[in-house]
Amino acid sequence: MDQTLLMLPGPTNVSNRVLQAISKNVVNHRSVIFGEILTETSELMSKMFKTNNQSYLLTGSGTAAMEASIANILNPNDKVLNVIGGKFGERLRDITKAFGGKSIEFNVEWGDCVKPEDVKKALEDNEDIKFVTVVHNETSTGVTTPIKEIGDVMRDYDALYVVDTVSSLGGDHVDVDRYGIDICFTGSQKCLAAPPGMAAITVSDDGWKVIDKVDSNTYYLNLKKYRDSGAGTPPETPYTPSVTLIYGLCEALKIIDEEGLDARIKKHKIAAKATREAVKALGLTLFPKEEVSSSTVTAINMPNGVSDSELRGTMRNEYKVELAGGQDHLKGNVFRIGHMGNTTYKELAITFSALEMTLKKLNFDINLGVGVAEVNRAFI
Ligand SMILES: *Cc1c(COP(=O)(O)O)cnc(C)c1O
Repeated sequence: MDQTLLMLPGPTNVSNRVLQAISKNVVNHRSVIFGEILTETSELMSKMFKTNNQSYLLTGSGTAAMEASIANILNPNDKVLNVIGGKFGERLRDITKAFGGKSIEFNVEWGDCVKPEDVKKALEDNEDIKFVTVVHNETSTGVTTPIKEIGDVMRDYDALYVVDTVSSLGGDHVDVDRYGIDICFTGSQKCLAAPPGMAAITVSDDGWKVIDKVDSNTYYLNLKKYRDSGAGTPPETPYTPSVTLIYGLCEALKIIDEEGLDARIKKHKIAAKATREAVKALGLTLFPKEEVSSSTVTAINMPNGVSDSELRGTMRNEYKVELAGGQDHLKGNVFRIGHMGNTTYKELAITFSALEMTLKKLNFDINLGVGVAEVNRAFI
């Protein structure tokens, strides 16, 4: 088996328990036994989202849920406020446009995050905004957005609040009902540490009221169908789901539940702090403003005189540690360390040990051991 350590913002390392779960044989997806697995998995998802509303499982990656979140509440020409500070904010805008929405962009500089007052101002300046899209954790820049405070602003407006928590659910605080989020979604392969291929979405009562009035342009991701099938006896999905991946997702959620969601989030915060301190100790610099930096992924400026292919190539080929590159205009200019899912001191100690050897090999002047020492300090 490939022993490469995945220090990516997804997919993340999958535990043996989850690997064993996905090796079980396939069952009829329209059976009582599968209905029970589906129910258990969706209930655990709702527990992770901290919502009393039902969660629905979609067979597809996080982007399927991004598309479902928009396609089900959008009529052509509806006005949408897309908050954009990176690649995933842009993707939500592109989906808005693909379904005929009028996108009003609120752009923040990549590396910074939107302020709640900015969202308020945009809602004041533009009438009839039907919904607002926000990315909780902008994976491309390593920035966290204050979704609770934006939720407080959103309460004074009719617009629905749509939040992408693909790279934060299970790794940072997401409290769907308390924050007043109408549509929230995530993917399986990031903080939840299940294999890629599943997504989950939850919808508030206000969200359903809008969905019921929209003749959605999506067939596979039509949420009314998921609601109807989910309410059947036994509960089902409208089309054949990835039975195997649902076994895996269910097991991954059970592991988080046993560990305790709050403990898991705390662990992510320590890993993020360890990563930032280790980066700084090595004389490297963070791409985002530190005060808005993510709990699940750290974006780091490429050190002077070192290329992306040399750095990540050496990490991968010599030390079997996979890091992520930059996206779009950040390609070649930043690299990213994902510290989500099952990551703890062990993975980070290996990662920084390898990064130190890599930098040394590439003639970037560092003191060996200082990065690893910061990891130790954060976890001791
Ligand atoms: C990864 C990611 C997505 C998209 O997920 P895929 O599984 O790659 O389709 C969406 N939003 C954010 C914030 C992500 O990190």
